[in-house]
Amino acid sequence: MTTTPSGDQNHTFRRYEDDDHDVDAWDEVIFQAGWSHKCPTYINKTPPCQGSCPSGHDIRGWLQIVRQLEKPTGDMDWQRYAFNRATDANPFPSMMGRVCPAPCEDGCNRNQVEDFVGINAVEQFIGDYAIEHGFEFEKCETTSDKKIAIIGGGPAGLAAAFQLRKLGHACTIFDDHEELGGMMRYGIPSYRTPRDTLDGEIQRIINMGVDVKLKTRVGKDVPMDDVEKEFDAIIWALGAKSGRPLPVPGADAPNCLSGVAFLEAFNEKRLQIVAKKVVVVGGGDTSIDVVSVARRLGHITEVHEKDSTENVVLGFTAHDVASTVVREGSTVTLTSLFPIENMTAAEHEVEDALREGVSIKGSVMPLEVMLDSEGRATGLRCCECTLDGNRPVATEGTEFTIEADIIVSAIGQSGDLTGLESMDNGHGFINSDKFYQVPDKPGHFLAGDIVRPHLLTTAIGQAAIAVESVQAYLDDQELSKRPKVDVHHFDLLHKLSEWNLSPEEHEAGESRGTSEENFAVHNYDDRSAAEIIPHDDLFLGHYEETPRHKRDTIAISSEEVLGNFTERLVGYEEAAAIEEAGRCMSCGMCFECDNCVIFCPQDAVKKTPKAQSTTGRYVYTDYSRCIGCHICADVCPTGYINMGLGE
Ligand SMILES: Cc1cc2nc3c(=O)[nH]c(=O)nc-3n(C[C@H](O)[C@H](O)[C@H](O)COP(=O)(O)OP(=O)(O)OC[C@H]3O[C@@H](n4cnc5c(N)ncnc54)[C@H](O)[C@@H]3O)c2cc1C
Ligand code: SF4
Ligand code: SF4
Repeated sequence: MTTTPSGDQNHTFRRYEDDDHDVDAWDEVIFQAGWSHKCPTYINKTPPCQGSCPSGHDIRGWLQIVRQLEKPTGDMDWQRYAFNRATDANPFPSMMGRVCPAPCEDGCNRNQVEDFVGINAVEQFIGDYAIEHGFEFEKCETTSDKKIAIIGGGPAGLAAAFQLRKLGHACTIFDDHEELGGMMRYGIPSYRTPRDTLDGEIQRIINMGVDVKLKTRVGKDVPMDDVEKEFDAIIWALGAKSGRPLPVPGADAPNCLSGVAFLEAFNEKRLQIVAKKVVVVGGGDTSIDVVSVARRLGHITEVHEKDSTENVVLGFTAHDVASTVVREGSTVTLTSLFPIENMTAAEHEVEDALREGVSIKGSVMPLEVMLDSEGRATGLRCCECTLDGNRPVATEGTEFTIEADIIVSAIGQSGDLTGLESMDNGHGFINSDKFYQVPDKPGHFLAGDIVRPHLLTTAIGQAAIAVESVQAYLDDQELSKRPKVDVHHFDLLHKLSEWNLSPEEHEAGESRGTSEENFAVHNYDDRSAAEIIPHDDLFLGHYEETPRHKRDTIAISSEEVLGNFTERLVGYEEAAAIEEAGRCMSCGMCFECDNCVIFCPQDAVKKTPKAQSTTGRYVYTDYSRCIGCHICADVCPTGYINMGLGE
């Protein structure tokens, strides 16, 4: 380990812990083959990035393709191949790349070297390239006579439709809005999920042959019984669009609104201005979107009563005032029970909001909505607080009032189950088992925020599992267990078949060993459904420190924010995407560095002949020469080699 002039530790070699001064006797540790009988085996494990991605992306796979290591066959270009791999699990790479808070990056082993791989920036590149070049999903024949109803056309419902079409089932999405997309369209503002890109990602799914019934609310326009009769199974993907009011006196004032209703009115272009003083209570994604939108909309001095924020949010059609009258900036304050650094909204979104002029007060609890003689809110009485677990404890003597013309509550959501009361678990959600089936309701499945509000990627991952469960239900199969890690892994047999290198058919009958036979893939094991490779199974000293390529952002100041709805994130150019993907350490899978070939003292590890070589089968061992010294396993940076066979 070396130390830089700034005092930072430079992790160039990590075989030992800090302060570990005992040198192992390498000859004892290594050259014991005479009695170990162990030889290298090649073990595919799941990298932690994939293990941390709720939609179970084969991240390492599409990074290998972008860095030009894993090659497509025929004349397919690498961008198309990367898109195919990335969308196997999640059909929204452009959306994910922009707004997913990327738990995969928190889990990335590269954090142990210097910084995580910019996974979602590469994902955005793959998605944006696909949109620009009009990539479609493969056409799907309807090969089954089963029809599935999907209630809700947000990310969960659309992802379910995508997976069902791949299995050849007919499906119909019911959604009560004018357009599909759920919260990607009616919650998140367009400067975060640009609508042309969103439209492209949705249309590509619909083009697979999905029926859509818009402006149709199940439970109101269509009774649930009718849907049950017409379809073989139902996937409930209703989302959580009922905002929770503040749990304080006065919160039922007409100018106290919910964050989701506020954003829906804005995204439907009904809400064009807000009030002069806006107070928002929250700390998560929804609240950050509300304050950022409020700063962009601003207010006008003379407002018609019908155009007041609450009337527009509650459904009145506003006059087109904003295009004719000069707007002024609104004073926008966000309060959160949590200290600012612990708020659940993404850190960069919080930084943007602060720069754009939002005042954020952390560790503050609301006490009461102050009302005027007509019962309208004029302010929010608050105090400072500490947290006992998640329960706020008021700090006495710290009370203060923030003046407000509207107060927006963004403290949580639940499903709107009006007309579907039999599905309600009493808390505004639908109960789910681990297979995303509704317990005791055969043929009913679910996914997304109606299970528990979380992230887009979570809703999409759950939808894929729900579809697997639908398939098992249609096949009359009992579901008993799920793999520890989800199913979208690198699959060597699939890879070999892409290159016409599949193993030969196995003739049933006696066989004396397989070393000379071609019906088996030798010394390879796929443990990716059960094992995630930790950083200490890697040889981290192999990787040079290389700074992460950060996406550019357009920083909007508080003076520039009014009326500014441009996207803030600037996607990678191709060269940056390739270089960033090249930072991936390929945890748990060979990345063709040749270390094992170079360092083997016996010349027992060899490169697979070019005509038979693919990702995952780049090297092989000549067991007649291997003495079991495990140098190859020690120098393999990715942890792909495990000493086995003699165990
Ligand atoms: C303001 C906001 C910002 C967010 N920001 C982020 C973010 O930055 N990153 C992130 O990962 N996640 C974010 N999230 C969370 C994310 O949007 C949700 O987790 C995700 O949209 C859930 O998907 P879903 O398909 O379950 O539900 P939804 O997206 O809510 O879609 C459900 C759809 O079903 C429709 N529907 C409901 N009931 C019926 C019915 N009875 N009949 C017909 N249709 C019906 C709804 O109108 C809606 O269109 C945010 C959420 C909000 C509210
Ligand atoms: S969906 Fe989110 S968690 Fe999954 S790979 Fe993309 S950024 Fe990472
Ligand atoms: S280095 Fe690559 S494979 Fe390993 S966890 Fe990070 S992104 Fe995944």
